[in-house]
Amino acid sequence: MLEIDQEISETMDLNLQLPPDVDPKSVDILIVDDQPTNLKLLTRVLNRGGYEVRQALDGSLALQAIQARLPDLIMLDIMMPEMDGYQVCSQLKARAETAHIPVIFLSALDDVFDKVKAFSVGAVDYISKPFQAQEVLARVRHHLTLQAINRRISYLNSELEQQVKDRTQQLEEVHNRLRQLALYDELTGLPSRALFLEHLKTSLQQAQTHPDYQFAVLFLDCDRFQIINDSLGHLAGDQLLAAIGTRLKDALSEDNILGRLGGDEFAILLTPLDSIDTAIGVATRILKVLADPFLLKGYEVYVSVSMGIAIGNSNYTQPQQIVQDADTAMYRAKMGGDPRYQVFDPVMHQKAVRFLQIETDLHKAIVQRELCLNYQPIIDLHTGKLVGFETLVRWHHLERGFISPAEFIPVAEETGLIVPLGNWILLAACQQFRAWQEQELVDTSLSLNINLSARQFNSRYLLQQIDQTLEEVKLDPKFLKFEITESVILKNQNTAKILLEELRSRQISICLDDFGTGYSSLNYLLCFPIDTLKIDQSFIRRLDGSTEKLGLVPVILDIAQNLKLNVVAEGIETQAQLQQLMDLNCRYGQGYLFARPLDAEQATQFLINCKTQSNHLAEFLA
Ligand code: C2E
Ligand code: MG
Ligand code: MG
Repeated sequence: MLEIDQEISETMDLNLQLPPDVDPKSVDILIVDDQPTNLKLLTRVLNRGGYEVRQALDGSLALQAIQARLPDLIMLDIMMPEMDGYQVCSQLKARAETAHIPVIFLSALDDVFDKVKAFSVGAVDYISKPFQAQEVLARVRHHLTLQAINRRISYLNSELEQQVKDRTQQLEEVHNRLRQLALYDELTGLPSRALFLEHLKTSLQQAQTHPDYQFAVLFLDCDRFQIINDSLGHLAGDQLLAAIGTRLKDALSEDNILGRLGGDEFAILLTPLDSIDTAIGVATRILKVLADPFLLKGYEVYVSVSMGIAIGNSNYTQPQQIVQDADTAMYRAKMGGDPRYQVFDPVMHQKAVRFLQIETDLHKAIVQRELCLNYQPIIDLHTGKLVGFETLVRWHHLERGFISPAEFIPVAEETGLIVPLGNWILLAACQQFRAWQEQELVDTSLSLNINLSARQFNSRYLLQQIDQTLEEVKLDPKFLKFEITESVILKNQNTAKILLEELRSRQISICLDDFGTGYSSLNYLLCFPIDTLKIDQSFIRRLDGSTEKLGLVPVILDIAQNLKLNVVAEGIETQAQLQQLMDLNCRYGQGYLFARPLDAEQATQFLINCKTQSNHLAEFLA
């Protein structure tokens, strides 16, 4: 025994330490041996090593002890009666709760076969008897260390697994949130543009495989929504959009998909669709549900919307194209008063493309001086004398040739380009007129007519621009006559009146262009300072010498006479028309019969001819 103690203390000196987190006192080692002396000896060795030890004299006692409490390590003798070490070990390894306990075999058997068998039944080590205390302690320590490391690894592993699990969950949450944000509009909770297009794509695919399947997209845009934002604030604007979303949703059936495409735009996918009438029915229903006022910040707010309907079919390849067409139709509806919806037809698309092209090119046209002015003579039908020119702008597109003002003026008007364009027209026309004055080609009775579109007329800077131009050109304002349409002044009567009075105070005259086609509510003629009515060409065109085709012409002439207004008949093309107008005592006329719109050079020549020829009418009247 002393020898053993000696041996053990030498081992201690070897500094074979257990890991810091393993306390030998808490280590429970089970020794299984049928030889009490062996048990005693091993116990002593291990106790000296600082370990707690339990003993078992045979295999079944060992299994009972293990069952009672799982040891940290088992030192197992092989040769035992009834149940040998191999059997005990096999049973331990077969059970999940004991399989992990390291087993060191101790045996006098020293054959390689026995050792290999020991490992094959699950042992971690093998010590031959008679054993050396040092070896026993070193191996025990080694396996306890390994066990501690394994425990640590599996602890770290499970911790890592938990972290991965947590991270995955977080990522999933973020992903779901992002998905929600991308696919649903936060304000209304409705599908976003992206999700709406996804639904549309599905419908499109269905239309491609089933030719009978029909669907439609209804594009809805609120009219003048900006006013709500500007007057009641963006928060109220948001509330209104959410409320509109709710009303729309309630008005639709479950099958239809309502999305918010952004801003004040909504879209509805009507699927499946039996006929276009169903789509129109939905549009009508929507107008109805949105007709009631919304209550916002104590105000009753009325919302008007414009809608475009595009019928889906297999000719479309991209969902965006259908939305685009519905948008184009909506735009049409917005321009056109009632009804507030329009069904898309391909001509609209061509028009929209052309509109865009003109807009782009018009910017360049102004800079590249592709524009010029024409002047169309206006004749006094009583005296046959020239009384003025109407200025008409012309665009000679470098690639596409002549583009009619009837086409590009509305584009300029819509885009706001009319303001710089109008300023240029005013300046160029005044300069031309001044040049004729200086050449003494025009006398004081001649006027220069210039067309003003709605946007120009409503521009805050119009008066300033006129004053500045006249000042620059040194032209007396009394020579100017602006042509405006009835609708322009009737839309905003109060400001129109102020502006017209300002113009009158400068002796600038006003002519109501295209008279008879618009409102023709005659009351306003009394309130506004207007000088001349220009009867629209459509009335003149119908005149053929017979009394049946006179239409409104005598009425207009009568009104003008009563109100002491001048009248110009526009678009006189035939002698019969001229004769009839003269018979009706119409004072002034303009039209191809006398002269087409003339370029500056031709107009100058016309003025020269006028000097030598006092009455132009003789040649036109048979
Ligand atoms: P508008 O002011 O009513 O101009 C009269 C239109 O009738 C002109 O067409 C003129 O060329 C045409 N016209 C004159 N006599 C006859 C005729 O005997 N027969 C026929 N068939 N047509 C005749 P244009 O030049 O194509 O201008 C169309 C419209 O474009 C104008 O209608 C006016 O609203 C606008 N516009 C033209 N020039 C200007 C401009 O400088 N400024 C603005 N704001 N608008 C302009
Ligand atoms: Mg005109
Ligand atoms: Mg006209």
